[in-house]
Amino acid sequence: MKTDILIIGSGCAGLYCALNLPRDLKITIITKKDVESSDSYLAQGGICMLKNDADYDSYFEDTLKAGHYENDRQSVEIMIKSSQDVIKDLISYGTRFHRDEAGNLDFTREGAHSAKRILFHEDITGKEITSHLYEAVKKLDNVTIYEYTSMIDLVTDDNTCYGCVIEKKDGTLDTIEANVTFLATGGIGGLYRHSTNFRHLTGDALAIGLKHGVKMKNINYVQIHPTTFYTENEEDRSFLISESVRGEGAYLLDKNFHRFTNELLPRDLLSIEIKKQMAKDHTEFVWEDLRPIPQEELKTHFPNIIAHCKEQGYDVFKEPIPVVPAQHYFMGGIWVDHMSKTSMDALYAIGETACNGVHGRNRLASNSLLESLVFAKRAARDCLTHMCVPQPQLFAQIDFDTYQDRNALAKSYQDLVRAEIDRVNKETVKAMPKMEKKGGSLHV
Ligand SMILES: Cc1cc2nc3c(=O)[nH]c(=O)nc-3n(C[C@H](O)[C@H](O)[C@H](O)COP(=O)(O)OP(=O)(O)OC[C@H]3O[C@@H](n4cnc5c(N)ncnc54)[C@H](O)[C@@H]3O)c2cc1C
Repeated sequence: MKTDILIIGSGCAGLYCALNLPRDLKITIITKKDVESSDSYLAQGGICMLKNDADYDSYFEDTLKAGHYENDRQSVEIMIKSSQDVIKDLISYGTRFHRDEAGNLDFTREGAHSAKRILFHEDITGKEITSHLYEAVKKLDNVTIYEYTSMIDLVTDDNTCYGCVIEKKDGTLDTIEANVTFLATGGIGGLYRHSTNFRHLTGDALAIGLKHGVKMKNINYVQIHPTTFYTENEEDRSFLISESVRGEGAYLLDKNFHRFTNELLPRDLLSIEIKKQMAKDHTEFVWEDLRPIPQEELKTHFPNIIAHCKEQGYDVFKEPIPVVPAQHYFMGGIWVDHMSKTSMDALYAIGETACNGVHGRNRLASNSLLESLVFAKRAARDCLTHMCVPQPQLFAQIDFDTYQDRNALAKSYQDLVRAEIDRVNKETVKAMPKMEKKGGSLHV
């Protein structure tokens, strides 16, 4: 198969990238499962927007503080300054955000934000955004989406990407030749036993990137979400109890139902506090009490969380629910510049799989949908001047036999990413001053 532009992944980054490319280019999107099975559909809390100029310094500082001041400041500036433009686009595609009685956009607040600057749609903001992007993409004649189609390798030569090898829905192998390739494969939660991510998000682009010598950045920066609904079944995807529940006033309680921490601490610090309390109490979870939130507010803002807890046998209006930290987000990834270009020619990385340094060591809540969209748009604009000259002979040389044992291949890719995370983790710990090692900030 041949295409002008190949996008691997159909989350918000991949879809919005397609929408920002010229209509006269042939665009092919492949995605490992169905389009709805991306983390973008799971985002609950919301998406940040610069409310007004007066909030700029505070938003910038909150992002840096959460990221332990390791953020790439230019990336942060680009993200914040582009936020209003992206939100305008989303609204133009039909995305509805909560509005006040006068019809103005209404903002909420989450942990580590010093002001209300998060737009939301009930507690299904990601689905509201991504489903409208998907509807808009479906209307484009120049875009074809192939579901249940996985990238299993890149085709590269002399540090240039020419497309990829795919496994199709029927299990057969094929190739896609492209003038530019975008990696938009999301996070790495599938590598962990407890994660809020879809299980099929296993960091494939990272493994394949490592194999081909693509540069990585902060690959050991993995965010643990402090509050996911506790279930005994370890195969379950962990259900998130959104940060904004705590932002609106929920309490965290120990085994004796006493508050033990500041619920609005940044995620990494709060996860550490919860783990400490679990160890102290010899429990597998702590309690989260949603009753301090006014009933009407709870009902209108968090209907899906209420429903999920009910399904699990808990009535949030009458009792606290059990919560536990789980892997949630990946700050590191494939190194990209401020236009989202990787270290390889004709290869871009966007969304959670990419690392432009915007989040530093820890992501501020509701910055990831925004970051994915802002940099996907920039990449779409930039790629037009960075296309490769096709090399069809490379595709003729591909030996499909090397990919026949798909399970072994998938395992080897997962092992590669895990080993690289471990290696960088060890190096980082070694380089840390003694005091910080004791704090254990990397191993929650
Ligand atoms: C439960 C939950 C709640 C969240 N809440 C928020 C929030 O409130 N606000 C916020 O800003 N962020 C939130 N996030 C984070 C945010 O949703 C993600 O960071 C963002 O959606 C990532 O978008 P993406 O397009 O990069 O990846 P995804 O949306 O995950 O899409 C990745 C795509 O890549 C495809 N793919 C993967 N591997 C392959 C392969 N080998 N071949 C082909 N296709 C492949 C997948 O099938 C999928 O289509 C949340 C995340 C979770 C899990």
